[in-house]
Parts: sequence; structure tokens; C-alpha cells
Amino acid sequence: SLSCKVLIVGGGSGGCSVSAKFSKILKKHELIIVEPSDIHYYQALFTLVGAGIRSLKDSLRSTASVLPKNSTWIKDSVVEFKPETNSVLLSNGDQITYDYIVISTGLILHFEEIVGLNEALTTPYVCSNYSPEYVENTYKVLQKLESGNAVFTYPDSPVKCPGAPQKICYLTEDYLRINGKRDKVNIYYNTSLPVIFGVKRYADALWKIVENRGIHVNLRTNLVKIDPDKRIAYFENLDNPDIKTQLEYNMLHVTPPMSPPNVIKKNKLLVNEAGFVDVDKNTLQHIRFPNVFSLGDCCSTPNSKTAAAIGCQSKVLYDNINCLIDGKKMSRSYNGYASCPLVTGYNSCILAEFDYDLQPLETLPFRQDQERWIFYFLKKDILPPLYWHLMLRGVWNGPGIVRKLLRLKLK
Ligand code: FAD
Repeated sequence: SLSCKVLIVGGGSGGCSVSAKFSKILKKHELIIVEPSDIHYYQALFTLVGAGIRSLKDSLRSTASVLPKNSTWIKDSVVEFKPETNSVLLSNGDQITYDYIVISTGLILHFEEIVGLNEALTTPYVCSNYSPEYVENTYKVLQKLESGNAVFTYPDSPVKCPGAPQKICYLTEDYLRINGKRDKVNIYYNTSLPVIFGVKRYADALWKIVENRGIHVNLRTNLVKIDPDKRIAYFENLDNPDIKTQLEYNMLHVTPPMSPPNVIKKNKLLVNEAGFVDVDKNTLQHIRFPNVFSLGDCCSTPNSKTAAAIGCQSKVLYDNINCLIDGKKMSRSYNGYASCPLVTGYNSCILAEFDYDLQPLETLPFRQDQERWIFYFLKKDILPPLYWHLMLRGVWNGPGIVRKLLRLKLK
């Protein structure tokens, strides 16, 4: 049995950035990270991998190279959380006790929840940017697409990066246009949501784009089943169960339903009704266990689940745990900041940035709800090194500082 001051569960975007911060003040044995995977993915790059702009290799690094040297990595999974006794159980039977725990296990993809999907993903017409296993297929399917219907879906569950299901739709449309095939393909974006995007400012811009580019958008339309032999996708209408529709496809890009891992969902003391780690949305402290914190995709905060949000969350969480360690009141509050570069083509992007109230919280001193080359450049060439070199090293706390500097300069 091991013990430590701070235990981090999950070495993804959240776990990595928080552990980098703690590694500067704790000793190697005082900071333990439990992460089963040898590979760390910068998942935000998957959108560009699917469109053939970047390779899968560009999106990955070894876990050993991204976790801080001054920490102890245990390559295993937590199979049980025991917050009542400040401990966790690993799959190898070991137990770890802690003073503080940070839970950042992310979300699990549930391809199995859509009838026929796992089989369909082995055919050359169906793809998903969401998994490193399938993301490279997207570009293959896209290159082969000559005519018929290209269909893009958004599931009836919370998802990470709610913009990603439609980014690949715009990229496909642009790809077809560039290659002279656009007039032979019908494009459908079928989403479970009642809106095209949660923030009105960007939704207004996106409605104009889909209209101008002839993309059919069906709201409250949820993929339930696929027949891979006949190449038909079946949908239900979430407002009216009597309405069922089907589409034959030559390309089908699926965003699967998602949820936190079972090890979290099954622990009723740890989660809210929806199965997410139940934390205060401002302090990121658990509402029942004061030494339990959580950030990223698996926690209950109602922000848009993005790596961009984690930049801000990691600083809040780190400072608040330090306050508790020093016997002080917690001082930091997370405002729900999230950002989503809505790639709209091979050279264009809208840069959505907003807070808990779904109010725009933009960094740059010009309109971000317009398609611009510079946002595409940011997504493709600036954000990846920012992620690897600043965020994962614990020195990126979100763009607040950039926003303040730019405002000062303008004044
Ligand atoms: P993850 O990074 O997913 O890491 C979770 C880690 O926990 C994993 O390494 C996993 O192995 C580990 N784990 C799971 N269970 C256990 C266990 N029982 N014990 C121990 N470890 C465990 N974000 C943006 O900001 N901008 C974007 O443009 C963007 N685009 C995206 C596009 C796509 C296609 C996808 C898939 C995601 C995108 N994201 C984007 C979202 C971003 O990748 C996630 O929000 C972010 O990775 C969440 O970090 P996390 O630490 O919560 O989870």
C-alpha cells in the first residue's frame, strides 16, 4: 500500500497540467499519478487528422514524456474510489491513500450504444474523429466520396468538444468544393441538440454558413441504428417519438454517446445524478468530500468540455488545494471559460470563447464570430505547441492574461 500528499487519477489534459503544477512544490514520492495508457493524445488535433491536414503522429506523445519528471507515475487503473477512507484501489490490487485527490479520468466513448455501429466502423463508409483508432479512416472515407449523402451526427449525451461533430462536416463540404465534387453530394448534419451551437452569437454565424453552403441541418434528430450492409442510418426525433427517419449514406461520420468511466458512475457518493464527479462549479471542490477535487471532462461543471477550459480550471484547482494545505479559505473561482475553434474550412475558422452564462468572452480585439484565416492558423500552428509546451507543463492558465494585455494596449 502506497501513500502520498496529492494523488492524480488520469494523465490526460487535466491530470497532466495539474500534476505539472504540483511537481514544482512536492517531492517525487508525494505526488502520484495513476494512468494506464502509454500514449497521451492531443485530441483537439483529431479534427485536423480526420481532414488530412495533420497526421495521427502529430497528435501523440508518450505518457512518460508528458508527465512531470518530479512525480511518480503508476501505470495502472483505479478500479474503486473510497473517499470515506481517503484511498483508491488499483486493478493490480494495490491501495493508495492520499491527503488530496484530483479526479480527471475524462469520458468513455460508447460506440456500442448505437446498434450496428461497431460493425459499421469496419466498413469504408463510416468513421469517427473521436477515437484515435478510427480518426485516420475519416480522411480515407472523405477521399473516396464521389456522390450520394454525407451524414454527420451528434449524440443524445454530453460530449467533449461540442463543436467537433460539425467541424468535420464543414471540412468535408470544403474538401468536396475544392475537388470539384460538391454538386454531387448532399450534406446532412443531424444533431440531438435543439440548437446548432449553445452560444447565440456563434449560432447566428453558423446558421448563415450552413445556409450559404447548402448543408441540411436537422435538430433533435438522434442516430439510433445503422445497417452497414444496406448503408442506411436510422434516426429518432427526440421531441416526437413517432417521427422516425432514415438516410442512405456514402459517408457517415459518427460522434458516439459518451459518459464518465463506470468506476466513477458506480460510486454514488462521488457523482451527481448524471454520473459526473459532483464538484462546486466555482471552486472545483467536491460537494461532500473537501479533499476531493475534479476537473476536465469527468466533472460536473456545466461548461463546454474542452482542453481550453482545463487551462483555467487547473489554476483554480491548484490554488484552492494550496489554500486548504495552508489552512486558509479557498480563494479562486472558475467562471466557466471554454473556447472552441470552429474550423469551417481548409483555411477558415470562427473562434468561439464564452463562460458559464453562455456569454462571449473573447480574447482578441476583433470580431471572433466571423470566419477568418488567422483563427485557422491559430488552431493549426499555435495551439498545438501551446498545449505541449505550456499547458502540459503547468504554465498555461487560460488566455485571461492575453486578454488583459491586449485591452491595456488598446487603451
Ligand atoms: P482526457 O484528456 O481524455 O484524459 C483522461 C485520462 O484518464 C486518459 O488518459 C485515461 O486513460 C485516464 N483514465 C480513464 N479511466 C481511468 C482510471 N480508471 N484510472 C486511471 N486513469 C484513467 N478541446 C479543445 O479545447 N479544443 C478543441 O478544439 C477540441 N477538439 C476536440 C476534438 C475531438 C475530436 C475530441 C475527441 C476532443 C476535442 N477536445 C477539444 C476536447 C479535449 O480533448 C478534452 O476536453 C480534454 O482532453 C479533456 O481532458 P481530461 O483530462 O478531462 O480527459
